Amino acid sequence: MAQAPQTSLAFPVARPERSVLSCVVPAYNEAGHLAAFIDDLAQALKPLCESYEIIVVNDGSTDATESVMASLLPRPGLRYLSLARNFGKEVALTAGIEHARGDAVILIDADYQHPLSMLPEMVRLWREGYDMVYGVMASREKESLLRRWGVGAFYGLMELSSSIHMPRHAGDFRLLDRQVADALRQLPERNRFMKGLYAWVGYRSIGLPFTPAERASGHSSFNLHRLAQLAVNGVMAFTTLPLRIWSGIGAVISLVAFCYGLYIVLEHLIWGSDVRGWPTLAAGLMFFSGIQLISIGIVGQYLSQVYDEVKRRPLYLLARDVDGGVAPHAGPH
Ligand code: UDP
Ligand code: MG
Repeated sequence: MAQAPQTSLAFPVARPERSVLSCVVPAYNEAGHLAAFIDDLAQALKPLCESYEIIVVNDGSTDATESVMASLLPRPGLRYLSLARNFGKEVALTAGIEHARGDAVILIDADYQHPLSMLPEMVRLWREGYDMVYGVMASREKESLLRRWGVGAFYGLMELSSSIHMPRHAGDFRLLDRQVADALRQLPERNRFMKGLYAWVGYRSIGLPFTPAERASGHSSFNLHRLAQLAVNGVMAFTTLPLRIWSGIGAVISLVAFCYGLYIVLEHLIWGSDVRGWPTLAAGLMFFSGIQLISIGIVGQYLSQVYDEVKRRPLYLLARDVDGGVAPHAGPH
């Protein structure tokens, strides 16, 4: 089942016998199924650890998510973090990871798309010594052709240009050892493209294929536009290829222009032909102005990222933190 490990386990790692598992659940407008999901998740966690905490991060939901949580709290094993507004899934996950106290941190969506039945295997691999166990989407057939092409192009660009290796089709459904969670907490950047950050920190990782289930209710927050935005953030954070490309294009264009200029001069001097062709000139001018604007735009994108980073605003603001503590229970471990 499991994909080939990236590194061998030459040094077996001892995991704590009486382990605490933290489960981070980002929730944006998930009122329809959140209460049932928390119950099911708690049931799935109980046999896997000594004690657990489920950290629900309400990412500025505009539906009844907050009242659903209020009706459940306080409850041992349940922690509720409410962000001051919608900061996006990447930041919600970061907030959860920063507050998690467990020996391992599991990230899982609130909409049942990530199968709970995979948790035992993830925990087993962690106990075996892997520091990160990530779910790999085995099929994306339900997604539109455009989305699949976009995803393909994104991974292609990353593989071509970035020094970090981002496993294809691995999402946020994963288990992080305490070491990995602490490593992620050390990364100070505001642009939190999590898939890149998981890959950047490294550690002994292994992929587990899974088929995402249908969303329990409500609808996905990631339309094509938001996905494209996420991909742009990923590119900006992990490769400078778009910047470098323009130097190459600029050099080629300059060379072609120089040769063409030389040809025109020679044509005039040797054959005495008139210099003609203002339409070519106009077309060329427009084409190259366009190219210049695109390149300035790309430089601007990077600059705006730098601007966001130097402002050093907090990554998120917490409106509420209701902590039920970890839930003790007598499990097999
Ligand atoms: N989510 C979030 N903040 C957002 C958008 C989504 O915390 O701004 C959460 C959402 O509640 C869910 C997970 O991220 O638990 C995945 O979102 P969704 O199901 O909308 O995306 P998809 O599964 O289509 O990628
Ligand atoms: Mg989903």
